Amino acid sequence: MLMRGLKRNHSGTYHPIILHPVRISEMHVVSSTSDGLVIGAACCLAQLRDILMKAVTELPAEKTKTYRALLQHLRTLAGEQIRSMASLGGHIVSRGSSWDLNPILSVGKSVLNLASEDGERQILLNDRFLAGCEPADINAKEVIVSVLIPYSMKDDFISAFRQAERQKNALSIVNSGMRVLFRPATDTIVDLSILFGGIGSTTLSARKSCEKLIGRQWNDQMLNEACKLVLEEIVLPPSASGGKVEYRRTLLVSFLFRFYLEVLHGLHQMYPFRYAELSQEKMSALGMLQSGVPQGVQIYQGTDALLVFKVLCRSGCPDTAETGNTAFSNERAQQNLVKLPGGPQYK
Ligand SMILES: Cc1cc2nc3c(=O)[nH]c(=O)nc-3n(C[C@H](O)[C@H](O)[C@H](O)COP(=O)(O)OP(=O)(O)OC[C@H]3O[C@@H](n4cnc5c(N)ncnc54)[C@H](O)[C@@H]3O)c2cc1C
Repeated sequence: MLMRGLKRNHSGTYHPIILHPVRISEMHVVSSTSDGLVIGAACCLAQLRDILMKAVTELPAEKTKTYRALLQHLRTLAGEQIRSMASLGGHIVSRGSSWDLNPILSVGKSVLNLASEDGERQILLNDRFLAGCEPADINAKEVIVSVLIPYSMKDDFISAFRQAERQKNALSIVNSGMRVLFRPATDTIVDLSILFGGIGSTTLSARKSCEKLIGRQWNDQMLNEACKLVLEEIVLPPSASGGKVEYRRTLLVSFLFRFYLEVLHGLHQMYPFRYAELSQEKMSALGMLQSGVPQGVQIYQGTDALLVFKVLCRSGCPDTAETGNTAFSNERAQQNLVKLPGGPQYK
């Protein structure tokens, strides 16, 4: 049993063997192979982010599409404290329904390198693993030593989506990883994977819908069919836990539509003479949310002076810091006291 912390106190189970990943160097090593990056399973998510950021700057763009999709969430997922504690292996094994990285790792065809007393083996981090299906799952005695995250290919398109109440420190309501591979220099689908988190008790795959769409061209008819198939396959009963059923169903289709547009835009960029540019209206749907440093201003009526407390909050501070309440208790918050005319000098 591999113990790392967060779940340690929740079960009273006795574990005869406890592995501490900090002492197992293989679980921290990062190496580059001809297939992709192999990342030690004990690396925390903040390290994973830094490794991928470096890879994205050093490698050709066509190889790093999965890495860029992962980075989209690694910059905002939970908060910096969680990202500095949670490990890649723990994230994968715990398989929370709303965990954001598993759908992307799965569509990116990641491979888990496992080890146990019985030896070593590799398994795919696919939808069957995420659903905990027996032959595709990790055994009780195995640990994930490292994870191979393959390079993407030229005709690959990979996207990540997440809808949450806030950009940081909020679990996804629904998230998704989507990938399509086209026959070289065409828009004919050779492989398609679509996974959703936040819908069921684990990450769900629209496997059957994807299989039916193989061989189709990437056009409006395909999109209509895809939406219909996905809504039939990814069932969300009216009594589903977590509520917001209509909203979550709408998100399934919205993510699909956005992926459709992203891919059309990508096709145009790769083959401008073959695929038309998106209209301005459609392009506007591709706008990215920018995550900046939240800032707020509070005005207090003091006894002998009117002070403006300017609160500048860095990482680890909830997005609601504009209210100031949480910012004052956060040791990383900086406060600048600005003197207004007529009051005493503060700094
Ligand atoms: C407050 C909070 C908010 C969060 N918000 C988000 C979010 O918004 N988005 C998101 O994606 N995730 C979120 N997470 C989940 C987080 O990313 C971690 O994935 C999750 O908490 C698992 O933590 P851990 O890595 O410490 O695993 P642990 O709790 O240490 O491990 C989980 C399980 O996996 C086993 N395990 C760990 N490593 C290995 C290994 N190498 N091989 C085999 N078994 C292993 C452990 O024995 C344990 O049974 C959040 C977590 C918390 C606590």
